[in-house]
Amino acid sequence: MRGRFAPSPSGRMHLGNVYSALLSYLSAKKTGGEWILRIEDLDRQRCKKEYSSQLIEDLLWLGLKWDNFSASEGGLSGEFYQSNRDSFYIRAFDLLCEKGLVYDCFCTRADLLSSSAPHASDGKSVYSGKCRNLSESEKSLLYSVRLPAKRIIVEDRTCSFFDGHYGNQNCDLSRDLGDFIIRRSDGNFSYQLAVVVDDALMGVNQVVRGRDLISSTFNQLYLYEKLDFHQLPQFFHLPLLLSADGRRLSKRDKDTDMGFLRENFTSEQLIGKILFLCGCLEKEEKLSLEEAVSAFDWQKVKKEDVVIESQE
Ligand code: GLU
Repeated sequence: MRGRFAPSPSGRMHLGNVYSALLSYLSAKKTGGEWILRIEDLDRQRCKKEYSSQLIEDLLWLGLKWDNFSASEGGLSGEFYQSNRDSFYIRAFDLLCEKGLVYDCFCTRADLLSSSAPHASDGKSVYSGKCRNLSESEKSLLYSVRLPAKRIIVEDRTCSFFDGHYGNQNCDLSRDLGDFIIRRSDGNFSYQLAVVVDDALMGVNQVVRGRDLISSTFNQLYLYEKLDFHQLPQFFHLPLLLSADGRRLSKRDKDTDMGFLRENFTSEQLIGKILFLCGCLEKEEKLSLEEAVSAFDWQKVKKEDVVIESQE
């Protein structure tokens, strides 16, 4: 069994990130599995080296140590940074192209806003398919104006998976997902493509992450199939942490960022706090990592999102 934590280093971690890190670790360790770290720094504008170094330092402060730890390379060797893995994504992308599943999409943001159908449940928009059947002459005209993004053709059928925490999940692929982007117009690969290629090649067979990514699981399962990766991971999604006004915790909530937390809590207090928040402890108390492994129990983890009171 191999689990993972796959953060995007676009700022200092906050309580929501540490919560996902710790619970993915505990879920893997509970069954004697491995737990690896992968830095998802594909978005070169938002992700910074100093954030990933800080993230590594914050995880080690908490006592979490990944099984792909590399002392000689500052905690993590280069192959676990997505920014170094383009060759793997290119191979996968080429395979999808060879299968005739990829097309150029020239739509601008404004085109997308005006033509996409909003998704019924989570506000994500579904692509109308406008560029699916462009003729060669239409394409060459558009090429002279802008570079296209690359979309994958999504079949008109349903897809379901069993979530280890939330149970059966179903999706109507063309209604709820639509053709989605696998490579952006700037050449960068999308999160959906990269995460599947990496989880598959790194032998990850347990994915634990926030339930906001349940809908992305369908994009990912579709890619597992089209890329001929036959070993699917087990997916477990976690309830989200929300601020007192009902928003998802974000980097704006200063009292939950790791800087603040490290000044105000010991690592054992923070571990206990997270286990209490997710429902595995009756009251907030200090807990070592070993104690946390014993206390962690998917049966006790809450289903409903968790509202965080101010830490100040
Ligand atoms: N890198 C993604 C994020 O930080 C998470 C990816 C995942 O767990 O699948 O939101």
